[in-house]
Amino acid sequence: MIIEGDGTWNKMINEGRCPRCFSMINEENKWFVCDVCSLQINDKNPDMDWSFAVANIEKLVIEKIDYMMDHPDKYDLNDIKKVEASWKRILRG
Ligand SMILES: [Zn+2]
Repeated sequence: MIIEGDGTWNKMINEGRCPRCFSMINEENKWFVCDVCSLQINDKNPDMDWSFAVANIEKLVIEKIDYMMDHPDKYDLNDIKKVEASWKRILRG
């Protein structure tokens, strides 16, 4: 069910590939720019790596979705889909 929530983006970026279109990306001064799909990732913040921040929040999203699935009395499938869709939208930039 969870496609983006398995750390794939983080792994792709660490391998120097675009997480959106899987092309090789150029790393220039911590700016990731994809020549194929124009995805740009600002990784200039010296306090925290972009991929590290994504991995942290991704973990929270997965935990929340798990919680929602365990509490069908409070949440329905649309609620879960909304969280998943929101996270995917954020990752697309
Ligand atoms: Zn791309």
